[in-house]
Amino acid sequence: MGACAAACPFCYTDWIRRDPPFETPQLLRIIDRIVSDFPTVGRVVLSGGEVTEFVDIVGVARYARSAGLRVAIQTNGIQMHSRSFTHALGQSGGVDAFLVSLHSIQPEIHDSILGIPAAFEKTTLGIANALAEGAAVSTNTVICRSTISGLVDLVEYCVDRFSPLETMRFSNIIVEGAAFRNANGLLVSLDNVAHVAIRLRGVGEKLGVHIELANVPLCIDPQGSLNSSYHVDLQRALIDFSPFYQQNRPRGEKYVKPARCSECTLLRQCPGIQSAYLSWAKSVPESIIPVPGASDCG
Ligand code: SF4
Repeated sequence: MGACAAACPFCYTDWIRRDPPFETPQLLRIIDRIVSDFPTVGRVVLSGGEVTEFVDIVGVARYARSAGLRVAIQTNGIQMHSRSFTHALGQSGGVDAFLVSLHSIQPEIHDSILGIPAAFEKTTLGIANALAEGAAVSTNTVICRSTISGLVDLVEYCVDRFSPLETMRFSNIIVEGAAFRNANGLLVSLDNVAHVAIRLRGVGEKLGVHIELANVPLCIDPQGSLNSSYHVDLQRALIDFSPFYQQNRPRGEKYVKPARCSECTLLRQCPGIQSAYLSWAKSVPESIIPVPGASDCG
C-alpha cells in the first residue's frame, strides 16, 4: 500500500508511490494465499508506504482477522491521532499490534523528518490511542544524523509517557530508495551505532523496556540481548511475500561480509553489513569483530 503523505529522507520504499496502488481484492487474495499455502503463519503485518492512508485498511484488516490471522500495522501514526480511527482499527479491524515510527522527542526534528507540520503531536497521540485500545505498541526510530544524539532521551520519554511499550526498535538505515539518494546527509558510522547501542541497552535494562536493533551486523551486540531483527533466517522466510521479490525487484541493499567474518561463529546467521555503508565509510568499521564461541546459531 504505497501512498504516503510523509517525505522521510531515509524512506527505502519510496518507489512504490509511483506504482499503481493496490486494490482491495488483490490484498484479499494475498491474505487467502497466506492462509492456504502457509498454515503455520499466524500473523500479518500491514505496511506501506503509509498503510493508514489506504482507504479500506479497516476492511482489509478485518478480512485477515476473520481468516484467523493476527494483524499488526506498521505506521507513522499520524492518522491514528483520531481516536475514532484508531478505535475502528482495533475494534472493527482486529488490529492488536502497532509499530509506530517516532524519530525524536524534539517536535521540530520529528516534524521535519516527516515533512508534516505537527507530526510529533499526532504521532504521540496515535501511540496513546493505540495503547488505549489495549493493543501491543512498539516504537520504531531510525538512527541517522539528526536522531542519534536523542535516542537515550527518547527511551526515557517513552517509558514515562507510554508504558507499557512492547518494544522500542532502533533501525539502522536501509540504504535504498530515498535513503540511497540522501545517504551522505543521513548515515552515521557503524561504530557510532555500536556505541549508542550499548547506552540504549543500559537505559532499557534500567527502565524495564525491551530494546531492539534492526539492520545491523550481529556483532554490534555480541551479548545478543538487543535481538537484532531480520536475521538471515527471517529474511529468507519473508521472501515469498515480499513485494520486492513478487515484482522481481530485489531490495537494493546488498549485504557483504568482510574477510575477517570468516572467523566468526555467527557467520551463517548474520546478514553482514550493507555494502553502501562500507563504500561510504571506506573501511571496515572497528566494531565488526568476529564473535568467538562454541556454536553457530545458524
Ligand atoms: S564478524 Fe561478520 S559475521 Fe560476525 S557478526 Fe560481525 S558482521 Fe556478522
